[in-house]
Amino acid sequence: MNLRIDLERLISEIEALAAFSDAEPPAVTRIVFTPTDLEARAWMKARCEDAGLAVRQDAIGNTFARWVGSDRAAPVVGTGSHIDAIPNAGKYDGVVGVLGGLEAIRALQRAGFRPRHSIELLIFTSEEPTRFGIGCLGSRMLAGMLSAEAAQKLQDNQGASLNDVRRQAGLAGELEQVKLPSGYYKAFVELHIEQGPLLEREQKALGVVERIAAPASLRVLVEGSGGHAGGVLMPDRRDALCAAAELILVIEQAARTSGATDTVATVGICDVFPGAVNSIPAQVRLSVDVRDTSLQRRDGVMRALAEACRETSARRQLAIHTEVLNADAPADCEPAVVAALARACHTQGFSFLPMTSRAYHDTLFIARVAQAAMLFIPCRNGYSHRPDEYASPEDIGRGTLVLAETLATLAA
Ligand SMILES: [Zn+2]
Repeated sequence: MNLRIDLERLISEIEALAAFSDAEPPAVTRIVFTPTDLEARAWMKARCEDAGLAVRQDAIGNTFARWVGSDRAAPVVGTGSHIDAIPNAGKYDGVVGVLGGLEAIRALQRAGFRPRHSIELLIFTSEEPTRFGIGCLGSRMLAGMLSAEAAQKLQDNQGASLNDVRRQAGLAGELEQVKLPSGYYKAFVELHIEQGPLLEREQKALGVVERIAAPASLRVLVEGSGGHAGGVLMPDRRDALCAAAELILVIEQAARTSGATDTVATVGICDVFPGAVNSIPAQVRLSVDVRDTSLQRRDGVMRALAEACRETSARRQLAIHTEVLNADAPADCEPAVVAALARACHTQGFSFLPMTSRAYHDTLFIARVAQAAMLFIPCRNGYSHRPDEYASPEDIGRGTLVLAETLATLAA
């Protein structure tokens, strides 16, 4: 089979999709179900229909574009990613897997390939947690890891319910029907930028992901007592920021001493109230993000935090509330799909690195219901979630070619 990627068209489509943005170029902001996101979705749908694919949407807006195989009853071979983007992000996160997936299908069509299993491009809804506070909304629901009932309770930061927002976006149907029927997929492969520096550092063309780390995120609210920075003497203080500072260091220490470099923990938000130079902090909100390839170690950090919250609140006499937003298990990629990717790299003559994905992706959830794996391409300096995120056309072309080859193997 003579597979050829139309790189010029693919790159121009990546540029065209980047223009659907609520930020000035080169930054991309595309929050789920905003007018800009809906325009981008309509544009994507038209591209898929141009390629002769049959497009459908489920009740949460996951979009499926199918190239019907000769055996219509056979389970589907899936590929895809997301097109939503956090505020002030770049052009490539998610998009490479969606437009690259579409181009892989077109390359197979041009090469005269006839799939036995249908090949389906999937554009997941809201991989990013920006609007509803929970990442991988679409894939969680597809995998049955987020119930319709729990999804119905979600609200955005303006207090609009997910149900209202999706209905306004024209999505009818019941959320109960989003979960995929068992045996839907034969296999699933997600192409994505690495979002880390290893491929570039090791000078490997591609990364074949064998494992996806387990993410957890929490909110911590420390409630102390405010007062005048001059008037309240030290023995009488219940300073919320000082308590929060202790917790932050406990989290860092727990991750550093877990026994493995795979453990990472981050406090990325620290909101101090009232936040005045001459006022004792009365209230602090922290966001905590913990990840590991081992669930035991990841949960060990969370236990250390819980223990520190109890101890600190007793000793400092203030209230500390924690809320776990998500605590997901890690996923092992399917060895057969990993092997198909490795073989395709070999066939196309590209070096690859077996890797762990430390960022999480929709495949973390799809892996619960399908044989799944991921293919990474390098991104410059490992930068992602920022406007200067960049993947070279050559790397995008290589990833798309290996994806096409792998889809052919899986769908034959
Ligand atoms: Zn992504």
